[in-house]
Amino acid sequence: MDNQNGLKYCPFCGWKYVNIHTRTHESYVTNFYIAYCSNCGAMSAEYPSKEKLIAAWNKRATDNLTSDERKKSEVV
Ligand SMILES: [Zn+2]
Repeated sequence: MDNQNGLKYCPFCGWKYVNIHTRTHESYVTNFYIAYCSNCGAMSAEYPSKEKLIAAWNKRATDNLTSDERKKSEVV
């Protein structure tokens, strides 16, 4: 169910391997974290911590996917 980095499967295409990218802004001290699906190109908003990113991404993944069984039946 979960990716190795704690992210659930992509809520748009069901891809397993959603990556976490970091992005730096010159005007901010901290890095921002973004979830990026290399399969369909879906990208999350920027979050100031990995924990917030994972929580937000997983909430969306849970909201959009009713169950793994449904997902499997949709992917032929
Ligand atoms: Zn995707």
